[in-house]
Amino acid sequence: MTESLFKISGGYVYDPKNEIDGQVKDLWVQDGKIVEPPTDPTTRPSKTLNATGFVVMPGGIDMHCHIAGPKVNTARKMRPEEKRQAEPVERSAISHSGTMGSVPSTFATGYKYAGLGYTTAFDAAVPPLSARHAHEEFEDTPCIDKGFYVLMGNNHYIMKAIQEHEPERLRSFVAWLLGASKGFAAKLVNPGGVEVWKHHQAGNVNTVDQEVDFYNVTPRHIIREMSRTVDELRLPHSVHIHCNNLGLPGNWTTTLETMQALEGHRGHITHIQFHSYGGGDGDEDTLNSKVTPLAEYVNSHENITVDVGQVMFGETTSMTGDGPLGYFLHNIYGTKWFSSDTELESGCGIAPIKYRNKSLVHALQWAIGLEWYLQVHDPWRVVMSTDHPNGGSFLAYPQIIRLLMDRTYRQDVLKTVNPGIRERSSLPDLDREYTLNEIAIITRAGPAKILGLTNKGHLGIGADADITIYAPHENKETMFELPRYVIKSGQVIVEDGEIRETLNGHTLHVAPDYDRDVEENIADWFEQYYSIRFRNYPVSDGYLHKPQKVACRSNI
Ligand SMILES: [Zn+2]
Repeated sequence: MTESLFKISGGYVYDPKNEIDGQVKDLWVQDGKIVEPPTDPTTRPSKTLNATGFVVMPGGIDMHCHIAGPKVNTARKMRPEEKRQAEPVERSAISHSGTMGSVPSTFATGYKYAGLGYTTAFDAAVPPLSARHAHEEFEDTPCIDKGFYVLMGNNHYIMKAIQEHEPERLRSFVAWLLGASKGFAAKLVNPGGVEVWKHHQAGNVNTVDQEVDFYNVTPRHIIREMSRTVDELRLPHSVHIHCNNLGLPGNWTTTLETMQALEGHRGHITHIQFHSYGGGDGDEDTLNSKVTPLAEYVNSHENITVDVGQVMFGETTSMTGDGPLGYFLHNIYGTKWFSSDTELESGCGIAPIKYRNKSLVHALQWAIGLEWYLQVHDPWRVVMSTDHPNGGSFLAYPQIIRLLMDRTYRQDVLKTVNPGIRERSSLPDLDREYTLNEIAIITRAGPAKILGLTNKGHLGIGADADITIYAPHENKETMFELPRYVIKSGQVIVEDGEIRETLNGHTLHVAPDYDRDVEENIADWFEQYYSIRFRNYPVSDGYLHKPQKVACRSNI
């Protein structure tokens, strides 16, 4: 018997990266990795899991959610009414208690992701000044690997470097900032718009060509220069873009212009559902879906990837680095609202929101999300997300899977929502159904590829042994909401929804090379404008509990 050799036998394996589409296959695991089957056929593993009749996939990867940092924590504190009502996560001999609601506690977040078969998740918006807070919450988020994207679209140093046509200084700063914050990717949120919000009452940018006060740069400049910089640095993930004009009727042209502003560089457009609206002039009745022309553009431009930001009906909390958006939602719904500015770097807005199926706007948002999944031809370039918790909780993923795999169910739900969407969206005419292989792509293999995570999202030799095992079921929501087993780094952490192990996942970050001479210039900048000393700003290696550096790409 070979010590620590773990065999998962006889399951139907879905591993799209390695072109395995439901074939029966044994997997062998050692030291947290998938390994070659032993050459000696008489070798006996120390442990065997009989997966006969079950569906085996790599662990899920959520590439866009909000689970750590001051914005998330403020949202938790802002919703005591939810915390009071939601069923809490009970503590056990091995696990902590936790609170639920639309913004679960750190511990509950880790357990619930694991319980759903997800083993990796990325928080999509952390100001570098708040990096320490986000890392500290990550340490309290068990079971999953995680990382965060660093807000850069309204950073003063970045806008100044673009204004002064200093591409090398920009490149060095972006690399330094990612390393200093121990972040994973560069994020643009309403590029330029959050800065304008800080200077004018109800301020924002309305087009990609509007100038930002004091910097003579436009959103288009920021998008173009940042996408080029990220490609030059060969970062594992492209620049991650939340476009201008989120949620506004007629914003689809801004989204199209954002894609064009990439000028062929890689770009990931996030929660694209919120950016695909036709109509305008403040008249709700003119609102309609513009997924068809946008999806055509995505289909014909391989440099672009998207995640959906699906809206699901019910109550949730909107939280965003897009300061003016929080104000906009507060004005529409009259709910409580939180706003804050992060000096020199970014902003933030939080507001509760309830999506109602009888509301034309909300029903259309729901339909537009589904249209995106169904109209992008290549599943490797569209990723499942609810922009948790903005469009809904990540716990809604099994229901979204059912909506994509079962068109009869989809038509049934369609009958229950505001009928006004029928002439405003193409959803009623779409009869595509996803296969299990395609679901495995949009929930794990695709995001791993888009993020440049070569060890994740597949089950080939050398991959991380993050594996989810499902009992097949005709109702795909039932199948995906309660995996039979979830395995993280080779250990069974969940069995039938019960937490069996509570290991700490890794924090995934990048540390790209840069010209060290730039540090003198950055130090001057800090001493002049920041309220924190330069030497106190970077997060040191020792600060992270289990850091894991992800390499830059060898080519783009
Ligand atoms: Zn988001």
